[in-house]
Amino acid sequence: MMTRLYPRAATGRHLTLLSLLATLAACASSPLERRQVVLYSEADMTARGEAAYSQMRAEIAASEDARATRYVQCVADHVVEALPEAQRENTRWEVTLFASEQVNAFALPGGKIGVYEGLLDVAINQHQLAAVMAHEVGHVLANHSNERASQSALRNVGFGVAQILGASDTTLRALDVGTQLGLFLPFNRTQESEADVIGLTLMARAGFEPEESISLWENMAATAGERSPELLSTHPSPSTRMDDLRARMPAAEAELDAAQARGATPDCIR
Ligand SMILES: [Zn+2]
Repeated sequence: MMTRLYPRAATGRHLTLLSLLATLAACASSPLERRQVVLYSEADMTARGEAAYSQMRAEIAASEDARATRYVQCVADHVVEALPEAQRENTRWEVTLFASEQVNAFALPGGKIGVYEGLLDVAINQHQLAAVMAHEVGHVLANHSNERASQSALRNVGFGVAQILGASDTTLRALDVGTQLGLFLPFNRTQESEADVIGLTLMARAGFEPEESISLWENMAATAGERSPELLSTHPSPSTRMDDLRARMPAAEAELDAAQARGATPDCIR
């Protein structure tokens, strides 16, 4: 007699679930042509981003430093101005300088950018601040939040399926550890280098000096000893990151030349 490993009903449910997911999971491509699995619509992600932004603004005070606020707005305006037309026109880009000593910044789907006052001590000029902002905007352009949210949803479904199939506790634990270690960290290395590449091009296209992105990560690493920058904990900074940036510098410098020829010469002063 054949031993059926899985009850027929569970297998059926499993297949239905998987084919449903296959239909739902639109295979998109990142701006760098990497295939991505994204489950949520752009409208959905915009709503999530806006909700998170409102919540942060309710919980963290905005900076009272009017001069620094104008400076951050100026850099953001130049970065947004350099975006491809579709992303510039169809997104309500907004930036807030938060009154917090954290060395951090973020950009959320829906075009909501946050910078913490502490970052201005490490990103010490307009070019370096633009490097951080353009990197964060790069995550948004490449749909990375959607990808992460989708991975975590798929992971939960994966668990459900494993449980339906009667996987042992050990298997479930292994699955959990494996997903935490490899795939589902805040931003993975692939996403980080994509954001670096997109960010470098974007900052240069806006007329900021791309070389300064390397100085920025050096400053960031130097700060790590005394005051560990949040940005480093979520954005690991191996030396390969700087090597990658250096390798792309000639292309970025060409973008900068073109930007300057168009008259894009930002002059944001703190
Ligand atoms: Zn990043």
